[in-house]
Amino acid sequence: MTQKYIDKTDLARMFAAVAHHIKEKSELLSQLDCISGDGDHGITMMRAATQLASLISPTIQQSLPTIFKDAGWRILDVDGGASSALLGTFFGGMAGSVPNETMDCNDLACALEAGLMAVSRQTKALPGDKTMMDALVPAVNAVRIAAEAGRSISTALREAATAAEAGAKSTEDQVARYGRARLLGARTRGHADAGATSIAIIFTSFSEAFSNERNY
Ligand code: ADP
Ligand code: MG
Repeated sequence: MTQKYIDKTDLARMFAAVAHHIKEKSELLSQLDCISGDGDHGITMMRAATQLASLISPTIQQSLPTIFKDAGWRILDVDGGASSALLGTFFGGMAGSVPNETMDCNDLACALEAGLMAVSRQTKALPGDKTMMDALVPAVNAVRIAAEAGRSISTALREAATAAEAGAKSTEDQVARYGRARLLGARTRGHADAGATSIAIIFTSFSEAFSNERNY
């Protein structure tokens, strides 16, 4: 599928894919958080993903900005510590720059950049600090590069997924400098960051929603 636009139906499929894969990996996410945090990350992400999956109604009229605003509030409401605060801020931060009905690759890049900017107002963490930013920043950059090159949404999301996965993998060698994990310092080396792993799952799920006809 070389899709040029994302509409509400596509978003519903993307969010359903996220819920499916987060559920599948929730134990791994909690295990990673056990190593360097308090072990609740899988549960928090399950709650956040369940909210995403139940957000879009096929019958009620919902504009894209409303969907992203609601996504932000609902994830913030999960009240699952750092990750729900940052992820809620990310989705809510996209709301201000998405068009009403459909978005093309450039709109998606602008929205993701707005979300990332909102997150950056909440944390000073940068790639290299072993947080979700290690996956989020390269994923957003990949969509921007794809948009500039005139690529389709499906290609942009595939490249974002690859970038997020590489970013999450890179956290294995890093030492945590933010969040609860920073208290463990060098002992966090050798395992991927839980939040970065979740971001990689999110972008891989987004990409998968465009690459096959699977129903979730
Ligand atoms: P908590 O640490 O409050 O229990 P979670 O376990 O759900 O929250 O999420 C932990 C993840 O959140 C970390 O793996 C990291 O990716 C991300 N994180 C935590 N604190 C920060 C921060 N200050 N900046 C960026 N990301 C952070
Ligand atoms: Mg935790």
